[in-house]
Amino acid sequence: QAKSAGRKTYRFFDPVMQESMVAQLNLQLSLRSALTDDEFVLYYQPQVGSDGAVLGAEALIRWQCKDGRMILPGDFIHAAEASGQIVEIGHWVLATACKQLAHWSRCAATQHLTLSINISALQFLEADFVTDTEEIFAATGVDPRRVKLELTESLLVTDVVSTAEKMEHLKALGVMFALDDFGTGYSSLSYLRKLPLDQLKIDTTFMRDVLTSRSDASIVRSIIALGDSLGLEVLAEGVESIGQRDFLHDAGCDAYQGFLYRPGLPAEGFMQYATAHLRAPPIGRHAG
Ligand code: C2E
Ligand code: MG
Ligand code: MG
Ligand code: MG
Repeated sequence: QAKSAGRKTYRFFDPVMQESMVAQLNLQLSLRSALTDDEFVLYYQPQVGSDGAVLGAEALIRWQCKDGRMILPGDFIHAAEASGQIVEIGHWVLATACKQLAHWSRCAATQHLTLSINISALQFLEADFVTDTEEIFAATGVDPRRVKLELTESLLVTDVVSTAEKMEHLKALGVMFALDDFGTGYSSLSYLRKLPLDQLKIDTTFMRDVLTSRSDASIVRSIIALGDSLGLEVLAEGVESIGQRDFLHDAGCDAYQGFLYRPGLPAEGFMQYATAHLRAPPIGRHAG
């Protein structure tokens, strides 16, 4: 990398960088054909209440390549944001997720489930975002009150005023909002009062060492207390063990998501899990 050559010796067109530019362009071309060839798919990860009952899911995009590889969002969302393709991909995600949710809502067993959908800041900042979303609601027949849009702090740094306006507009339809990866961004806490949020999502990175790191434990407790005092639901991501779940439960966390329950599943797999966990299992800290 050019950086390792020293602070003042950046070489803009060194072979490594050129190669990575070519790689980026290739990735953009592949993303284009992924959209036209229908290679994206949504997985659904259960979100569970403190009694173990499934509350809903988060839709997570995967790229099922023609060669059989499954590519995770960490390997292409950033490129899609850099090229602007995230807007079109995000529209596909929203439409596909709403179609799925409308299907769940038509089945008695799953009609209460909510669906959380990740919205990239670039997508939300598009002038047409609100009307596009309303069109998708109308076309799929989905109940907006079952839809939760996950936004990140980066959006709030960009433009709090127009973000709040758009949120209020959708909020009037019943849409819920979650603040994803809470605590990892750079924004001030004051915006929490200005925005019609419903949920804070504690990021996976705080969960990893929550049982061994005193500072991570107190960050997690503080987020839960903050959410509580602002009247927001708090959901912990990255819950992998019963120990973590018990810690969160004692701290007063409202909802849980993580490998302890299930990773993201194809729609049919999620449906099976959800229908098997509609009611709370017997209460007991180690019922698992
Ligand atoms: P996120 O929204 O914070 O989603 C949670 C991520 O944590 C998911 O990774 C999920 O698979 C992972 N995860 C869930 N449980 C556990 C656990 O117990 N332990 C650990 N270590 N990880 C867990 P995934 O699916 O790879 O997605 C990564 C990120 O990509 C997402 O983070 C989100 O920011 C973005 N993303 C995913 N789908 C979409 C999408 O449809 N649109 C947009 N714009 N971004 C998306
Ligand atoms: Mg998310
Ligand atoms: Mg997150
Ligand atoms: Mg995360």
